[in-house]
Amino acid sequence: EAITIQELANRMAERAVDVIKLLMRQGQMLKINDVIDADTAELIATEMGHTVKRVADSDVEEGLYAEADHADDTTPRPPIVTIMGHVDHGKTSLLDALRHANVVAGEAGGITQHIGAYQVEQNGQKITFIDTPGHAAFTAMRARGAKATDIVILVVAADDGVMPQTVEAIAHARAAGVPIIVAVNKMDKPDAKPERVRTDLLRHDIVVESMGGDTLEIEVSATKKMNLDKLLEAILLQSEVLELKANPDRDAEGIVIEAKLDKGRGPVASVLVQRGTLKVGDILVAGSEWGRVRALLNDKGAQVPSAGPSMPVEVLGFQGTPDAGDRVAVVDSEARAREITEYRIRSKRENQLKTAAGTRGSLEQMMTKLQTAGRKDFPLVIKTDVQGSLEAIVGALEKLGNDEVGARIVHGGVGGITESDLTLAEASEAAIIGFNVRANTQARQAAERSGTEIRYYNIIYNLVDDVKAAMSGMLSPER
Ligand code: GDP
Repeated sequence: EAITIQELANRMAERAVDVIKLLMRQGQMLKINDVIDADTAELIATEMGHTVKRVADSDVEEGLYAEADHADDTTPRPPIVTIMGHVDHGKTSLLDALRHANVVAGEAGGITQHIGAYQVEQNGQKITFIDTPGHAAFTAMRARGAKATDIVILVVAADDGVMPQTVEAIAHARAAGVPIIVAVNKMDKPDAKPERVRTDLLRHDIVVESMGGDTLEIEVSATKKMNLDKLLEAILLQSEVLELKANPDRDAEGIVIEAKLDKGRGPVASVLVQRGTLKVGDILVAGSEWGRVRALLNDKGAQVPSAGPSMPVEVLGFQGTPDAGDRVAVVDSEARAREITEYRIRSKRENQLKTAAGTRGSLEQMMTKLQTAGRKDFPLVIKTDVQGSLEAIVGALEKLGNDEVGARIVHGGVGGITESDLTLAEASEAAIIGFNVRANTQARQAAERSGTEIRYYNIIYNLVDDVKAAMSGMLSPER
């Protein structure tokens, strides 16, 4: 366990310069970002008149997430649905059509707010739709160990058939063990060929009902609003089979589906409640942020006193902005909330320090190698939405190099760009590339502070082309 001088000073609410002076008097010349071990830190703290409490790590999060709900206490909950499929097959259109198809008469004035998820009603039963189509968000959440989807709607355009991202979506749903309902879309088009979609799907081991399998399949048109109620009924049928249940009478747990810093309202997090009931006044932790719920707003922008299982709500009252994908739990006191979040911030920093130290070492090793080989290198941190794109990009970039200059992938990973990517990039003087992913607020702020470049792409060809151009700028002038 190690800590930077800055961090130690922060925790004692002392000035870092005083810590440095004290260390100097003991014969150690250190700078503000240097790391000292736990024993030295304890010595310093005691010397400066602070009482030291070392936290036993594993105890801190003990009991934060409850054990599984007791079957006796559970009641049925609405299914949570994500729409996936190839680009332009109609995911967004379908989400919009479903959202508007179910506006109850008289409620038409209620403008639906984008809070990351919304609920519709069919035959008096609710269904929750995650408002970000595609597998990027789905994968990002799964990468953090959060399962926020019960059913995947696979949209396949009848005039286009099964395409690469259709296949990717199938793989993602399978990997997560989430059942698929096929929506064959654009059935209004004259060149619609639903038969071809069905046989294409067979090749990916999806056997729809009409072909003797058990995958539900509905032919729809998002733009003509055709068969939308049939699709909703299929979802309810599938969710009956899944027997989705949760205990509403306990402290809430859930997941952050979106979060932002709002100018007027402060940090705003959209939370999908997974079990229990979230109430105004509850104290929440989400990742390394916490807060007391000041207000809850539903997907129509209306204030609600509480939110039960499968309900999405905007939560006001967080002290800072959590990350999408963060797990949310209610705790019983502010002190407990502080203890947990401080512990998480600390372990995150420690991990970063370890990673940063690791790369610095390897960078030095590399530099010496470079000097002997005379080859310049172009360090990059790459984040993508899916593993497949990551592999394709890394493969393409590695081929770009010649004996004078080459790309070096400091880190490649799946998911949004986070502060820890920035730390890594800073430590290795790398640029960051986001493919179909964005940087979160903290990462953007860190990038501004350190002057690290973040570039976004959604076409691999453009990405590779740009890196190539940048690398040729590094070539010696005579070439
Ligand atoms: P996404 O990329 O999967 O989100 O696809 P979009 O929802 O943006 O749709 C792509 C294009 O297909 C848009 O021009 C839509 O108007 C069109 N589209 C979507 N659904 C239908 C449909 O059911 N019928 C027809 N004819 N066009 C559709």
